[in-house]
Amino acid sequence: MALERWFRRGRPTRVDDDATPAGLWMKCSACNVQIYRKDLVSNLHVCPECGHHYRMPVDERIASLMDEGTFDRWSGALAPEDPLEFVDTEAYPDRMARVQGKQGRPDAIVTGEGRMHGEPVAMFVMDFFFAGGSMGSVVGEEIARAAERAADRGLPLVGLAASGGARMQEGALSLMQMAKTTTALESLNDLGLPYISVLTDPTTGGVTASFATLGDLVVAEPKALICFAGPRVIQQTIKQELPEGFQRAEFLLKKGMLDDVIERKDLKRKLVRYIRLLLDRPIELEREDAHVAGV
Ligand SMILES: [Zn+2]
Repeated sequence: MALERWFRRGRPTRVDDDATPAGLWMKCSACNVQIYRKDLVSNLHVCPECGHHYRMPVDERIASLMDEGTFDRWSGALAPEDPLEFVDTEAYPDRMARVQGKQGRPDAIVTGEGRMHGEPVAMFVMDFFFAGGSMGSVVGEEIARAAERAADRGLPLVGLAASGGARMQEGALSLMQMAKTTTALESLNDLGLPYISVLTDPTTGGVTASFATLGDLVVAEPKALICFAGPRVIQQTIKQELPEGFQRAEFLLKKGMLDDVIERKDLKRKLVRYIRLLLDRPIELEREDAHVAGV
């Protein structure tokens, strides 16, 4: 198919593929069961029937992880520019203005600090609903600043990745963010401060190839797609059938690429335990742990 026609075909955007659909009732895309939308939202966007993890809006994600009223936002002062005067189906500044209006933030990331079960933590969360969570100069700069600020303040850093990769509209400037974020994270490492990376569906391209896989611990949500190039590209290149579950979190855990796969309902508790573990501090035994340990 001619490239031009492929672009003109009006493909549905991948961005909305796995968002929680609008409407009162919805059919789960994984188990086909009719579920009440409010039940899904109150269940952290996880299907109450089959446990399928839908993509989660950033503000709800932060609310689910941070203690109530403790989150202090750092990001928001930087907005993308258009150094290449890039135009595809739409001029880059027009595309950005539209997405900024819809998502209510200047780019695909929120950073800040707060408390998780009382533990002071710095955090960044990528917004996949903002231009596919693509990493341009603003996303890279915000992550670098968050890492440096966390180092200044002696805070551990938790990062939640969700991205289609580097932002093509900023060309090489997007690719440079890979080196920038990597260098900034080193400042945490030098101080012995933990950085835990949480990979959510999907984490791909230059994000996978830089800060997202550089955590002291790299964990993921169930069935999250995690890759550099996607399965279709690989299949077409090597002309072989790919194994079942290829590039999904559970597969990568088995192959030693991840340290843990954590269900969303357990994420906050487990992250706090891992932070305390990495800081060499006592982990308070909770009831179920006490039972297992026979305490
Ligand atoms: Zn389901």
